[in-house]
Amino acid sequence: MERCIFCMVARGDLEATKVYENDDVVAFDDIAPQAPVHTLIVPKTHYDSMSSDLPLTTMAALFEAVPHVAKIKGLEKSGYRVIVNNGMDANQTVQHLHVHVLGGKRMSHGMVNFEE
Ligand code: 5GP
Ligand code: ZN
Repeated sequence: MERCIFCMVARGDLEATKVYENDDVVAFDDIAPQAPVHTLIVPKTHYDSMSSDLPLTTMAALFEAVPHVAKIKGLEKSGYRVIVNNGMDANQTVQHLHVHVLGGKRMSHGMVNFEE
């Protein structure tokens, strides 16, 4: 999609600090990191979010990239969290499917914070 920011990153039309890339996905550092390591993995083909229409190959490519990113970022031993915010209630703000890889510091046990 022409004006989608993550499509623009995937095309090289918007600058980003790339971490990993293959034919199907590109991984780059989040512009507003919420952890010492905060990298996003996006499919090169635009999908708004996860849905039952999402090809299994795309899903596989996204998650296959996770351990590569973790290794490049030195998170293999210490561990990391993988998050997909999907749709409104999850506060997805960029409507191009993406996987967050977060790590570099010990996290608390809770996984969700609800709005008041
Ligand atoms: P969401 O809230 O949709 O799960 O995550 C979107 C993420 O994209 C946010 O963490 C936000 O900081 C990041 N982001 C938004 N715009 C840009 C950008 O132009 N470049 C990069 N690298 N990250 C972005
Ligand atoms: Zn897109």
